Order: sequence, then structure tokens, then C-alpha cells
Amino acid sequence: MRLLLVEDDRMIGESLRGALRLEGYAVDWVRDAASARATLASERFDLVLLDLGLPDGAGRDAVAAPDGGFAVLRALRARQDATPVIVLTARDGPGDKVAGLDAGADDYLVKPFSTNELLARIRAVLRRKAPEALDTLVEVGSLKLDPATRRVTRDEREVRVGP
Ligand code: CA
Repeated sequence: MRLLLVEDDRMIGESLRGALRLEGYAVDWVRDAASARATLASERFDLVLLDLGLPDGAGRDAVAAPDGGFAVLRALRARQDATPVIVLTARDGPGDKVAGLDAGADDYLVKPFSTNELLARIRAVLRRKAPEALDTLVEVGSLKLDPATRRVTRDEREVRVGP
């Protein structure tokens, strides 16, 4: 699974990237809205973690561009890109939450949040967004792997793998 982390705060970004890599995710990290838009336009990700208060990449800082993340999200959805997005924000007004979900976010986490909660939400969003991917049999020659049951069969007979 490949994630894009969009976060301008260096300490938060480093700690999130470290925690996500420990979980086995491949993580790309960008720190401003322009980089996020360019990266999302040219590469595919399984999920995006998107901070809302972002510098725009053209000189305006996160305070001057408090909705930088919204612009990234709207641009993504405007071209029918359904990549799951979890918004990470320091704001917690109910209006912000509604605006984030209406703009096309799949979930919304208010800082400060625990790493465990973030990881659980990532798993939940990935399950909702890609149930078929999780249920699909993987076939290689006569071998079949069922990700749901983790059973491997060859010519319909179960094959023991691992210890
Ligand atoms: Ca920020």
C-alpha cells in the first residue's frame, strides 16, 4: 500500500511517516499544496493523508493559506479521482468537518490524534474503498491465494505455506 502524506509541519510529518512505515506502508511525503497537486496528478496512491492548513508552494504560508488542503482535495475530485482521502486538521468546528466531508474527504481526524486511531481509520477507509481488492483471488499459474482466508490452493487442494 502506498500512501501520500501532505503535511507542512516537519515534526508531525516525520513522526507520522515513521509510524506508517513501521506498519509496512510505503510513504511519500510532500509539504505544500502545489507539490501535493503535482504529485497527485502524476502518480497513483492507495490513500492520501491531507493536512488542511498548508503553504501554497508559491510563497503563501499555512496561516495565509488556511484552506490549501481543501483546494488539493477539490482539484482531485474535480477530475473524478476517487483516491481515498483522510483529512488531518487542527480545526475542530462542526462546520469544518462538514466542509471537509462535502469537499470529498472519506474521513476526518482532528489534531492531536493518536497514531493508533489514525492507523485504524486508514484500515477502515481502505476496507471500505477497496473491498473487491481484499476479496479477489490472486492466481499465479495453478496456485490460488484467497486474501480473505489467507488460504493457498493448487488445483483446488490446500497448500501449506509458512511455518
Ligand atoms: Ca499545517
